[in-house]
Amino acid sequence: MLQLKKIKYKHMKPSYMLFIVLLITFSSTSQILKKPLPEKLVVLTFDDAPASQYSVVAPLLKEFGFGATFFVCEFPPNYKDSTLYMNWRQIKALDHMGFEIANHTQTHANVAKLSPKEFHKELAYIENKCDSLGLSQPTNFAYPGYGLNAEVLPLLQARGYQFARAGGSRIYNPLEDHPFLIPSWATNATNKAEIMLALNKAKAGSIVVLTLHGVPDIEHPWVDTPPELFKEYLQYLARNNFTVISLRELSAYINIEKAKELIQPDLNKALSN
Ligand SMILES: [Zn+2]
Repeated sequence: MLQLKKIKYKHMKPSYMLFIVLLITFSSTSQILKKPLPEKLVVLTFDDAPASQYSVVAPLLKEFGFGATFFVCEFPPNYKDSTLYMNWRQIKALDHMGFEIANHTQTHANVAKLSPKEFHKELAYIENKCDSLGLSQPTNFAYPGYGLNAEVLPLLQARGYQFARAGGSRIYNPLEDHPFLIPSWATNATNKAEIMLALNKAKAGSIVVLTLHGVPDIEHPWVDTPPELFKEYLQYLARNNFTVISLRELSAYINIEKAKELIQPDLNKALSN
């Protein structure tokens, strides 16, 4: 593909140019996608390990047969309060139930403010915890508080991470968005209209990734999703035949290393809301 840059485009006929553009588009599509994405594809992600993810979220997801990713951390200062947060025995139970356990740093650290050494320490804590408890090794990451900077991307790659989820409130297009800058919508108690609009953007080629916190979230009420609202979302997804999966299940559709090779990470797009 690099060879094409050497061709003198200005001497080309427009129809030939169009052919080359189509060829490049087709070629990167066929390289990045292992198989066509289904319509109505939704990825559910849950952050911060609040207690209700074990007691409310997991049983409901099982009832509906939906997959999900849980980005866990030990949120200071009250992580040890089991009325607020899941303990590691409960996190392990989610892993055994088939859900994905992924890395949200040890202390919910803003990665934009960490040195590479501190970042490694934050990631390694969750990796070691999973290893010592016999959980699957985390391969996906979510930026705490959506803080990110360009230096973090090679560090995630060096530790073998596949996807990293950010915010941004827009669809995830695997042909345009770098796997370390996956956009998502965050739910709260008052943005049902926005989330319903988002779900309807899950057309062929566009994946909707949702970020949820506690259901309910006692410790962080600004990211609370009331259980009744959560049930409504699940019923809507089931009734309308959405495919609802975890982030790691996207690897069935996306050639992640090829996507990283072909897509330039766009930090400005990822940071804009
Ligand atoms: Zn978080």
